[in-house]
Parts: sequence; structure tokens; C-alpha cells
Amino acid sequence: MRRVALALVLPAAMLAVWHGSPKVGAQSAPAASMAAYREPAARLIGAALADTAAWTRLAELTDTFGHRLAGSKALEDAIGWALAEMRRDGLENVRGEKVMVPHWVRGRESAELVSPVRHPLVMLGLGNSVGTPPDGLEAEAVVVGSFDDLAARGEALKGKIVVYNVPWTNYGETVRYRSAGASRAAAYGAVAILLRSVGQPGLRTPHTGALSYAPDQPQIPAAAITNEDADRLQRLQDRGQKLVVRLAMDARMLPDAESANVIGEIAGREHPEEVVVLGCHFDSWDVGTGATDDGGGCIASWEAVRLMKKLGLRPRRTVRAVLFTNEENGLRGGLAYRDQHAAELANHILMVETDGGVFRPLGFGFSGNDAARATVKSVASLLSGIGAARIGASGGGADIGPSVQAGKVPSMSLDVDGSLYFTIHHTPADTIDKIEPTDIARCVAALAVMGYVVADLPARLGQ
Ligand SMILES: [Zn+2]
Repeated sequence: MRRVALALVLPAAMLAVWHGSPKVGAQSAPAASMAAYREPAARLIGAALADTAAWTRLAELTDTFGHRLAGSKALEDAIGWALAEMRRDGLENVRGEKVMVPHWVRGRESAELVSPVRHPLVMLGLGNSVGTPPDGLEAEAVVVGSFDDLAARGEALKGKIVVYNVPWTNYGETVRYRSAGASRAAAYGAVAILLRSVGQPGLRTPHTGALSYAPDQPQIPAAAITNEDADRLQRLQDRGQKLVVRLAMDARMLPDAESANVIGEIAGREHPEEVVVLGCHFDSWDVGTGATDDGGGCIASWEAVRLMKKLGLRPRRTVRAVLFTNEENGLRGGLAYRDQHAAELANHILMVETDGGVFRPLGFGFSGNDAARATVKSVASLLSGIGAARIGASGGGADIGPSVQAGKVPSMSLDVDGSLYFTIHHTPADTIDKIEPTDIARCVAALAVMGYVVADLPARLGQ
């Protein structure tokens, strides 16, 4: 990706904010109360855009530790580094909160079309998949285009490898084949599945991701292949050719391992017990370096709190960065946070998740009552100078989900330009070169302003 120097020239609209209305006393009407926040918002935005600190820290994380799958030494080393760096930054109440996580390991793996022509298939085993027998397995492969197609073939799939060739539409629709495809095929006696990658067309790049086995079906190995190879298998089958595929996977699940959610705060000056959470997940898949999914979200959330501290902007309530562990193949971090903070959830006034990449920010998705929505719309207006003033119909995230549900907490997600996200999602190409320093700096600015102002408003959000 093109690398641009960080633009220090502020957009005109932002300068208007900077030199905007003089500071006035906080008032209850949302529009009026925002005037008091123009100056701190401009300071936070200015500090975020002043250098490449966020991008540089993300580069250090991803270059030093690489990918960070739950159970890996890399994740635990990265967690230790984050705790030490947060303390060095002067964040408060920095701690790791213990979470037991699944420990899946990929091992060696390969797939090959052996008939009617030999052709190595670029593949990635799906997370949580079982392996094949040690020598691999070889079987006739049948390409299907949908679960209906699968059901129509029924018992004819016994002993076969099912290849799901379902073109990308959107994540929600297509990911069902990754999650449930193995068990659905096992129900008809299939011995393994291959899956057209769940992602936008790329350059012969496989996308991994978790599957979940149904408790009442045999567990069969599952792997993603590239769009290009899935199309080739489809064309061969359409010409009446019989396909034979060989699959070998060492994948296995080890006993649960110890990990931690990482927490760092700026404590509230009036209501420290009331909390705004800026959340993300620190684990990643075991390919690429988890820069977009979700190292960037974590560094941006952490930087937002660091800037408040650096600028001496201590809000009325606490702003807490939470780097959740094990989102990808277990969600144990999000579940543990809900349980460990159950008594506190009623005092969580907003939970924000950044897990859509740290590309050019557009605003936030928001779920909450109408009064809260009106307030966050006003807060977002402080971000018009960086083009991030939009408040979308709904917002949330996987990690904050359990707490949001249990505590009925208003929730938000940072919305960004998502055009590249599902090209690199869960692939070896999830590396920092896809991220522009100016984009992540703007994400930091958006999170810092939203987090600070909501935490500082005289009235609690939604009341
Ligand atoms: Zn993610």
C-alpha cells in the first residue's frame, strides 16, 4: 500500500472547530453543552494527528510479537509488553485479568487436487478444526453451492470431501458455511470439507476463521481454499470430471491455557466508579500479524486514553481501555469480563468496540436509547473536521457483546472505510503495511473525543 507522510496541515473544518466558540459552562441541552468541549476535542484531535505514535506502536507490536493466537507464547509475551508499556505511559489501574482460553494449534497442513490433474491447493485449516489421520486422507470431492445443494445430494456425500463454493456476498451470509459447514456435511457422512474463503476476491489468498462443531455430529477436518482454486474445482466438476483431493492436517486442540484481558484507565475525577470502555481484541489468527484484526483497534483504544492522560484531560468518569483476549476462537475474554465485572455493569455508561480495522474513520455505529443517541450525535459533531461525525443505526462488537447484553449497556463501534477489510481479514496479508498512519491517527482522535466527552458530560449518557 501507498504510504503517505502524516499531513500536519489540518483540514479547514477542523480549524474552525479549533478556533470555535469560547468555552462556556456545561449546560443540559446537548447542543449548548458541546461548545464547552470544542477546545478539549480540538486538543485531542491535534495531539492524535501531530505524530505517528499509534502507527509506530502498532508496528512495534506486530513486528516484535507477530501473530497472537490464544494459547500462544506470542500472545502472552505481547500481553506482558502491553502491561509494561501502559504503566510506562502513566495509565492508571493497569492490570491483567486472568482468563482461561482454548489452545488450538494448526500444525503442518496441505491440500492437493490429485485427479484429474495434480494441483496444489493453497489452504488454511479452519480454527478449532480437528486434524486428519497422520497420513492424511484422500477422497472424492464434490463441489456444492449452498446448504440446499448439500441437502439435495444427501447420502451421495458419504465418504466424500465436500467443497463449499459459495461466493462472497457479505460476512453474515457467507460465514455460515465456515461456522456450520463441517457439521452439516458430516451429517451426510462426509469425511472433510474445503471451503471457498469467506472474503472479498483477493490474490489467491485463503482466509482462516473459526468453525464450531455441532455436538451431535462427528467432527471432521475443515480447511479454507482460495476463490481461484474453488472456481477451478467447480469448472472441472461442471465438465463432468471426477475430483480426488488429498488433505493432511495436524491440527489439534490442547488443554486450555492461561491468558488475560489487559486493562488501563484514566480514573474519573468525580465518578470513578462509572466507566466508559474502549474495547478491542488483542488476540489474532495465527497467520499475518493481526495488524488490522485487531492490533490496530487495541493500539487506537489505548492511545486514546494515553492522550487524555498526556493532555491532563481527566474526565468526570473513568475511561477504561480493555484489550480483550481470545475473541477469534472462543470469545472467552469478553465472557470473562462480563462475569468478573458483573457487579459493575450497571455503572458502565458506554462500551465502544473497535474491530473493523483502523482505516479512515467515518463515525460510529450506536445502539442505545433515543436520548443517548441524541447526545452521541452531538458529541460526534466535534469530529466533523476529520470526517468522522456520522452516527449509524446500530453499533457494538463481539467482545463487548456479553457485557452489553447482561448490563443493557449502550454500545458503539468505530465505523471506518471498510473497503479493504474483508480482502485481508484472517489472511497472511493482515500486516501493518495496509494501514496508513493518518488513518489510525484519525481513529485515535475519534475514540479519544467520543470517550472523553461521554465520560465527562454533566449528565450520565441516556439520562
Ligand atoms: Zn476481530
